[in-house]
Amino acid sequence: MKQRVAVIGAGPGGLACAMLLAGRGVDVTVYEKQPIVGGRTSRVQVGDYQFDRGPTFLNAYAAYSRKSFYEYRSKTE
Ligand SMILES: Cc1cc2nc3c(=O)[nH]c(=O)nc-3n(C[C@H](O)[C@H](O)[C@H](O)COP(=O)(O)OP(=O)(O)OC[C@H]3O[C@@H](n4cnc5c(N)ncnc54)[C@H](O)[C@@H]3O)c2cc1C
Repeated sequence: MKQRVAVIGAGPGGLACAMLLAGRGVDVTVYEKQPIVGGRTSRVQVGDYQFDRGPTFLNAYAAYSRKSFYEYRSKTE
C-alpha cells in the first residue's frame, strides 16, 4: 500500500520535505493556512506593489542609500 503523509506548512521546509517524499513515491498532501506558498520567503502584495518578506527588507536601506550592508551594520551596532 502506498504511504500517505500530511505536511503542515508550505514554507521552504515543508515544500522541500514534500518534494523529497513525493520523489520517493509517497502520496503527499501539503496544508497551508495562508493563501500563498513560501512561508517567510513569500511576498506581500499591497496594491500594485510587491514586498519580499525575506532578506530584501533587511538590506533595503543599504541598497537604496548605496552604502554597503557592512557599513550600515557597523553604524547601527
Ligand atoms: C527578514 C528575514 C530574512 C531572512 N533571510 C534569510 C536568508 O538570507 N537566508 C536564509 O537561509 N534564510 C533567511 N531567512 C529565514 C528563512 O526565511 C526561514 O529560515 C525559512 O522561511 C524557514 O522555513 P520554514 O519552512 O521552516 O518556516 P516558514 O517559512 O515560517 O513556513 C512555515 C509555513 O507554515 C505555515 N503554517 C504554520 N502553521 C500552520 C498550520 N497550523 N496550518 C497550516 N499552515 C501552517 C505558515 O503559514 C508558513 O507558510 C530570513 C527570514 C526573515 C523573516
